[in-house]
Amino acid sequence: MKDYTLIIGLEIHVELATKTKMFCNSKNDSNEKRPNANICPVCMGYPGTLPVINKEAVQSVLRLGLAVGGEIADFTEFDRKNYFYPDIPKGYQISQYKHPLVRGGSLLGVALTRIHLEEDTAKSIHTESGDSLLDFNRAGVPLVELVTEPVIHDSETAGRFAREFQLLLNYLGIAEANMEKGEMRVEANVSVSRSDLKSLDSKDGPFGTKVEVKNLNSFKAVEKAIKYEFDRQVGLLESGGEVQQETRGWNEEKEETFSQRVKEGSHDYRYFPDPDLPKLFIKDILDFAPEVLRRTIPELPWQKRERYKKDFGLKDEDIEIYVREPGWGMLFEETAQLLNDTELSKLASNYIMSDLRKIISAERMAEVIRMIDEGKISSRGAKDILKIIQEEDADPRTIAEEKDLIQISDREILERIVKEVMEENKNAPIQFLVGQAMKKSNSRANPEVLKNIFEELLK
Ligand code: ADP
Ligand code: MG
Repeated sequence: MKDYTLIIGLEIHVELATKTKMFCNSKNDSNEKRPNANICPVCMGYPGTLPVINKEAVQSVLRLGLAVGGEIADFTEFDRKNYFYPDIPKGYQISQYKHPLVRGGSLLGVALTRIHLEEDTAKSIHTESGDSLLDFNRAGVPLVELVTEPVIHDSETAGRFAREFQLLLNYLGIAEANMEKGEMRVEANVSVSRSDLKSLDSKDGPFGTKVEVKNLNSFKAVEKAIKYEFDRQVGLLESGGEVQQETRGWNEEKEETFSQRVKEGSHDYRYFPDPDLPKLFIKDILDFAPEVLRRTIPELPWQKRERYKKDFGLKDEDIEIYVREPGWGMLFEETAQLLNDTELSKLASNYIMSDLRKIISAERMAEVIRMIDEGKISSRGAKDILKIIQEEDADPRTIAEEKDLIQISDREILERIVKEVMEENKNAPIQFLVGQAMKKSNSRANPEVLKNIFEELLK
């Protein structure tokens, strides 16, 4: 087998967490469950409406551009990208073509091509009965698109890049970029090159034909899909075949890519500047002045890593945890400040890492909260369980059963207790009676149910 080089370029879309949509005052709320709750004539594309640029969205992208060391445009404008699809109410998407807000810059050493701003589409929901429903809550939500140069050469780096981008957006406070919620969508362009193969679709390099993989909605999927594509493309070339330029999807279950559509020449979107929107001369607009925006940029992940390394000499893995979980980072930093001694600070970090952080895992915590929600344990019981977990790391449900902390909600059992208490304490106020009944149940009675029974029986 000959030597193959993997070439990857990423295109990442992220919904910005602005208060309102990109070109209107409709609420931008990714948690809204009711379909078509946050819509207005502008984001529904009604004739005669006029879009207005969301200042916060532009500022977010400019701050992002500054953070990655990109070149901020002097001049920028929005273009119409024309195509027809039911999820695109106007018949075009407002995007940026020739004049993106940001050019260049780099992240984790990966060169960036551009960062621009556009609007998201509506969400199509295909029902089992064969109907297609449209939810326009997402239509017009500000979407940032970042494009990298084809300079990534392994799937792990691609995954790491996507994670770092998400972290950066979180640090800047401009997006949650939750992949499961679809707030961040990654597309991987993948090709393989072989030294003896003539370049097929590029003038400037030994590039093979690229395939674009869409619908990657987890970091793991990004890595797996790229690995799969590399093997598939090498397999094709080895057996004398050719890679087709196409768009492929990712099948999560089968863990393989599949052909979605073959590119026949490049799509003609007939881009042209949107005549309804003003052109922006960035440096003449005070709200967009890079000097002003630069002051709003917090310490960035890579700066924090470097500082933790330099000031405290911590292990890389530990630093990474503090960078990703700033709450623990704060605890460590404040402790270190009080100790004011490098060796003692390291010792403190070891305890935070090996003891404090392991007091309770997210899984255990979630389990306890679920049990409260299910009415299985009381808030008292939850506190007891949390205390026990700190001492012996055990499953909350097992603890609840072993320590008799399962709440009693069974009416029959509680009614028996209530009747006994009423018999023993005639004419006592209800609060006292509830207290007595709680005692009789060893604090295991569900207080809600208990109170209801008393109220009924005392009537
Ligand atoms: P298109 O016009 O098909 O969208 P672009 O040239 O705009 O292609 O590039 C889109 C993405 O594809 C960029 O992230 C770029 O880095 C990546 N890319 C371009 N050529 C290749 C290649 N040969 N292999 C892998 N990725 C590539
Ligand atoms: Mg593209």
